[in-house]
Amino acid sequence: MSIKVIAFDADDTLWVNEPFFQETERKFCGLLEDYLPHHSISAELYQTQVQNISLYGYGVKSFILSMVETALRISENTLGVPVIEKIIALGKEMLEKPIELLDDVEQVLQSLSGHYRLVVATKGDLLDQERKLRKSGLEHYFHHIEIMSEKKEADYQKLIKHLDIEADEFLMIGNSLKSDVLPVLAIGGHGFHIPFHTTWAYEHIEHRVEHQNFRDFATIREVLTHLRPDSQA
Ligand SMILES: [Mg+2]
Repeated sequence: MSIKVIAFDADDTLWVNEPFFQETERKFCGLLEDYLPHHSISAELYQTQVQNISLYGYGVKSFILSMVETALRISENTLGVPVIEKIIALGKEMLEKPIELLDDVEQVLQSLSGHYRLVVATKGDLLDQERKLRKSGLEHYFHHIEIMSEKKEADYQKLIKHLDIEADEFLMIGNSLKSDVLPVLAIGGHGFHIPFHTTWAYEHIEHRVEHQNFRDFATIREVLTHLRPDSQA
């Protein structure tokens, strides 16, 4: 393989993320259960989130705004200020969560560094992702941190140009086939998928991925068998 740069997704690839959103969503549904059953509130919230992506982007701040908007809609604007305050507090709690690194992440980065240029390519809030990276203790492994407003083909093309490499010298590793793998394969790069036990509905795809530059692994450690076949890992 001709790979020079390995880009890692961050949320649910390097550290735990989606379960925190799900936990907050459960609490949010609890605050509004006098109006609708939980599954209906979740569906309303999802609809608001998807509608707001092009305006607010991804991450916790846009999630907070979407929760407030959904709560007002569900309650037909009758919701009391204390509930709005609670929703905002739920969002702020998310921003203060400790970082939970996923198994073997640090060993894998250690084993790859020095052999490849490592970068982070993540969506989400700029400030929040910078804070998480700092708290993770992983920052020093990376040559470059790219916090992207979208992960579509054009966004990856821009990143590859910035890194001054060819598309087939670029490998993206992440938990989302939709945003970490498919657009990278489409522009001629390599994509490794490491599933996380839970995925946001927005990132789901229905079809199987088959491509010569694609690999699916059960754990992040397994990427070493391809990327460092000579190592003991
Ligand atoms: Mg992810």
